Amino acid sequence: MATTISTATNGERLSSYDPSTGQVIGTVPIHTAADVDAAVARARVAAQSWSTRSFQARAEELTAFRKALAAHADEFADLLHRENGKPMLEAYTEVMMALGHVQHAAARAEEAMAPKKVSAGILANFRATVTYLPLGVIGVIGPWNYPLFTPMGSIAYALAAGNAVVFKPSELTPLLAVKVAEIAAKTFALADLLQVVTGAGATGAALAKAAVDKVAFTGSAATGKRVMIAAAERLTPVLLELGGKDPMIVAEDADLDKAAEACVYGALTNAGQACISVERVYVADAVHDKFVDKVIENVRALKTGGDDGHLGAMTSPAQVAIVKNHLEDAVAKGAKVHTGGAEAISGSYIQPTVLTNVTHQMKVMSDETFGPVIPIQRVASLDEAVKLANDTTFGLGSSVFAGKSEVAREIGARIRAGMTSVNSVMGFAGIPSLPFGGVGDSGFGRIHGDEGIREFTRIKSTAEQVVSIPMNMMSFRQPKDMTKRLKGMIKQLYGDGVVAKAGDLFRKLRSR
Ligand code: NAD
Repeated sequence: MATTISTATNGERLSSYDPSTGQVIGTVPIHTAADVDAAVARARVAAQSWSTRSFQARAEELTAFRKALAAHADEFADLLHRENGKPMLEAYTEVMMALGHVQHAAARAEEAMAPKKVSAGILANFRATVTYLPLGVIGVIGPWNYPLFTPMGSIAYALAAGNAVVFKPSELTPLLAVKVAEIAAKTFALADLLQVVTGAGATGAALAKAAVDKVAFTGSAATGKRVMIAAAERLTPVLLELGGKDPMIVAEDADLDKAAEACVYGALTNAGQACISVERVYVADAVHDKFVDKVIENVRALKTGGDDGHLGAMTSPAQVAIVKNHLEDAVAKGAKVHTGGAEAISGSYIQPTVLTNVTHQMKVMSDETFGPVIPIQRVASLDEAVKLANDTTFGLGSSVFAGKSEVAREIGARIRAGMTSVNSVMGFAGIPSLPFGGVGDSGFGRIHGDEGIREFTRIKSTAEQVVSIPMNMMSFRQPKDMTKRLKGMIKQLYGDGVVAKAGDLFRKLRSR
């Protein structure tokens, strides 16, 4: 049986706070680099054994793990509510989505990693196979905004692919991760298959530098760069799930009621602290005013704070300060505030804020705000909307609302982002078969889907000669006229005189 979470060698501890009250709700060890290295070494032993188990055996253990997590759903929701500040409804939604990924990864791993026979091309006497093998030990570094759902998108997929995991949660939400570690220790037969190390940036940096086989990082672009630099020391590959500045485009013929309802949810769920939050809205000139009215109407129906609130406390004072700064910057540059605003911020609560008259010169339209703000910009055409949507270094999610779905799909395809929802927001995050990830400053690599399983594998290519043939290219023993034959082959196969498929030509030459 594994230990749940080891004590730190330096004896130091980190406090976790309830953002709505500022009260300490628990403490965890601050693991040192030596502690992290020791956890990775233990994980290496677990990985060796776990990787040799059948897919079915691993799926059975992951199913037991999922069921044990589900049995503690109330505790997870409570911790999500208290550590992160999100309302209970959103906390349970997060638990449900996280469990969906454990189930999906366990069920899909065998098929996603099935060996693939591929064409042997000109070497028609070969069998060519691609196989996917576990990497070994995966270091997972997580954020605070979705502290269960987000890291589980790496943890479950890495385990299902046959790896062991060392997970470093955010210093703002460590108690939840410790609970995951406790359940893992009780559920998995192998000790140290899924371990948690706790601490702030230094512990994360130690994990990025440790002897892991991949680092799966979720967090800000700035930290992602640091992780990549640290991992480069050992040429450890990295998966980076970073921030976003997701655009939403509303066409003239869109269903405005649906678009406004979705916009308000997409921008305000988790108090806007989602990497795939709607952060910018571009609305066709003809329907701009009507759309804004509907958004305001939806926002006015929401409650901030309290047990039945739609928006909870912001997770950290630092995030409140960023949002305040973006609002003040926008107002100073001419934005109009319809609801909320910087003056309405009280402690860790920010009232949902609708802004119009915004431009790309404002931080609220260029930097990740990560708060309950809906900046709406009028556009003269869909082309202008696409141009503005792509005027960003980020490229995570996006959404398009249009009456004609083929138009919506076409607009979506032109947005430079990893994911697009058509006539909905965030839909891609709720579909476990869809790979999740971004481009540009939003990172690279994918979690979720078959791609998210193969992300935690190494590819092995095997070329097996199944029949011997007289013309063996991998030999120095060649006929005297071989050079001449090759010249002919190059011309026929790849030059102007293409007369046959590679395989046909090969068979013709072989039969000579
Ligand atoms: P952050 O970058 O501040 O921290 C993320 C994690 O990195 C934490 O665990 C932190 O302790 C650790 N860390 C800090 N310094 C480190 C270092 N030098 N080396 C290694 N690890 C270090 O991010 P955050 O504020 O916790 O999370 C919010 C950000 O995460 C937002 O930008 C959000 O958009 C992004 N995010 C992205 C996704 C996605 O899937 N793309 C999902 C959720 C959140």
